[in-house]
Amino acid sequence: MNHQLQLENKKYRNWVKAGLGLRYLKEGLEPFSDDIVRQQHVDILNSVKQTCNVTTVNCGNCNLKTLMPNHVRISSRNCPLGQANCNCLYPRGKIVCPNNVCGAIYDTIVTVHNSRPPAPFWKNTDVKKWCTDPWAVAKCFINAQGYAQKTSAAEIDCSGLLHVIINNKSLHSHIQCIISGNDEFCKTRQARNAIFHSVTMELEDSGVNDYIDDMIAILEDGKELHARPESVEAVKKLQEIKNDAFIITKETERDVIRAAHIAFDQKGKELEQKIATAIASIEMKSKEGTESREKAKAEFLETSRSAEKKLDNKTKVAIEKIQSCETSFLQKTKNSTDNLQNITEESIDQIKTAGEATIRKIRDAIRLPTIKEATSLKQTQEKKSGVRFESMPSMIRQQKHETNIYHREKIMPQQYGEDYERKKRGNNFYITILK
Ligand SMILES: [Zn+2]
Ligand SMILES: [Zn+2]
Repeated sequence: MNHQLQLENKKYRNWVKAGLGLRYLKEGLEPFSDDIVRQQHVDILNSVKQTCNVTTVNCGNCNLKTLMPNHVRISSRNCPLGQANCNCLYPRGKIVCPNNVCGAIYDTIVTVHNSRPPAPFWKNTDVKKWCTDPWAVAKCFINAQGYAQKTSAAEIDCSGLLHVIINNKSLHSHIQCIISGNDEFCKTRQARNAIFHSVTMELEDSGVNDYIDDMIAILEDGKELHARPESVEAVKKLQEIKNDAFIITKETERDVIRAAHIAFDQKGKELEQKIATAIASIEMKSKEGTESREKAKAEFLETSRSAEKKLDNKTKVAIEKIQSCETSFLQKTKNSTDNLQNITEESIDQIKTAGEATIRKIRDAIRLPTIKEATSLKQTQEKKSGVRFESMPSMIRQQKHETNIYHREKIMPQQYGEDYERKKRGNNFYITILK
């Protein structure tokens, strides 16, 4: 597309207009920003005079790497002001400001930083200039690199000025707008990135008009800005570019493209920085990871050893207990056996005694008739029955052979006749014969 055609491209024209709007906004904000930054610097120095009890606030000796803040860390990872990587967290090698001022200024910058957690952009500043250059302090609030060498609002682009106002809580007293993230200041800061980082370099009508309306709203802020002549002048220019008939000169176009180029370059550097930071972070984490793995391994080994030792002790104790149990069991078994033996022996003795007594009783009960008695019995039977027995009953004959073994047998009636049988049956009489 040749240049003339490109200029006739509505969306490209919109893009150029939006870029031009940012330039006008910056022109409107410059003196205001300078004023409020200077004013804040004076306030900070006065405050340091009071809090640090010094008559003059002057130092050119300190640098960020070694500066000891006035505040003290809560713990190794806990800054009382909430700043990540705060100087307070690494006190080794840090030096207290010899003039007793820089530590207090450091604390103030962190304290008034608007983001949560506070994140001053220390790369943009030179601590040595804090006591003499208001922008050395103010640039800590520009959350992007590329401003380290800038010393005035005139040298700082629209984005930088918006950063200073948005990120510095102390400066909010100079504007009516409430910084919420969705206010004109924040929206315009985002718009600036959308415009200058646009690859197509094109914008819809509605887009450019919204952007410019927000820029006008900033400059017409009810507190101080609306009354400043440079704001009034800038608003006038912004309204002109909203007009379709606005003529874009070659100079205008060149300025906008140059600004976009710078913004792009800046963005590239930011990305490079982010990548470098990410790589450093990964390397650090990797190192920490290795260290923590080694630490974990060592802890694990120690724990294992300790566990083994405990286990050994426990095993030892368990074995001792088992041995003790075995000893106890054996002792108890022995006692039981002894008892049982005693009991058995006692029982046997008792049974034996009882048996002997029983045997005596039985002997008494079944005492065999003597030969005299048996003879008498024979004669009585012969007399009653009229029958004469030729010999003594077998059992009586055998009684002569004394022995301890007895055999009992019922006397059969036919052996002794009816009368004898009846008589003996009635007494339940049995004859025990010797075998
Ligand atoms: Zn800290
Ligand atoms: Zn110092």
